[in-house]
This record gives sequence, structure tokens and C-alpha cells, in this order.
Amino acid sequence: MGAAPNSWFNDPSFFDTKDARTIIESLILPAYDSDFVWSSWVLVKFNVFGWRSSLDRIPCKSGLAKRNIIPDSFCQSCISMEKDANHILLNCQFARRIWSALSVWCKLPVFDVTNVSDLLKVPNLWPLSPEKKKVIYAIFLSTL
Ligand SMILES: [Zn+2]
Repeated sequence: MGAAPNSWFNDPSFFDTKDARTIIESLILPAYDSDFVWSSWVLVKFNVFGWRSSLDRIPCKSGLAKRNIIPDSFCQSCISMEKDANHILLNCQFARRIWSALSVWCKLPVFDVTNVSDLLKVPNLWPLSPEKKKVIYAIFLSTL
């Protein structure tokens, strides 16, 4: 007698559709090294916006300027040279006022970050209870 029926199924060299899908996805899909944490306390669109912001994937004037669609990417609010997503959401003087007011409102320590990815890591750096960290994280996502 030969091998038992279905012995090929337990063969470690067996190649199935899941293996094919894994290989194809690794070749086609971009690999994002993102440690973004989805929050169940905010709307899905806030999570998506926060996730895209943390990856610097928000469409803005700097993207159009890079493609020579518009001549420059000056910020209309503060006349800054760059108008990328991090400037709009965090570094513009108007955005800084909002984050400063939020910091006072939530009685948070002063924080100064220049990109969204770092902003979303800030609550975990503070000595807060896990529940408060989740609340602050949800407020940050909602404020973006
Ligand atoms: Zn600005």
C-alpha cells in the first residue's frame, strides 16, 4: 500500500490558494509600516482620516504642487512655505491654537509634535490610566 488518502494535505510543501494569495498580495500591495491603532470610540471616518494622516496620505496642495498642477503650496492661512498634511493639521499657527486649547481643556501636559504619527503616540507616553489614554486618543482622532 502507498500513502494514506489525503496525505498530500498534510505535506508541508503543499501549496494552496492561501499561499498564492499571500505571495501575490506581498508583491502587489504596498507594505505600510504603520502602528496606527483603530479606536472603537470614534466614527470609522475619523479612524480612516487618522490612519491616512499618520501615513501622510491626505490629499493637499503640496501633492498638487509636486505634480506641477499648481505653482506653489503656500499655506493661505499663515503664508508658510509648505502646506502638507502635517502643516495643516498640526504646525500651522491656527492648528497650534486648536491643539493648545485642547490641551488646556483636557488638562494635558504640553506636547509639541510635528507629525500626526507622533501625535497619536503621545497619549501612551503620559502616565494616565488605560481608559484615559483611550479617551485622549479618541479626542485626538476626532480633532484631526
Ligand atoms: Zn499655515
